[in-house]
Amino acid sequence: MSEMTCLNCGRTSQDIPLLSLSYRGETYAICPQCLPVLIHKPHILAQKLPGAEYFDAVNHEH
Ligand SMILES: [Zn+2]
Repeated sequence: MSEMTCLNCGRTSQDIPLLSLSYRGETYAICPQCLPVLIHKPHILAQKLPGAEYFDAVNHEH
């Protein structure tokens, strides 16, 4: 099994604590410093997290 790396910056848990994410049956990891990216700019992660560009749409319904 390959080591988890942060979705955004690619650091491993050797470098920084990683939070694991479950998404569509897969497990991903992200570090606390990149978590705001996932929250506020998920489209940036869409290449690595298919569908992330749509997370925003739900939050911004008025
Ligand atoms: Zn990171």
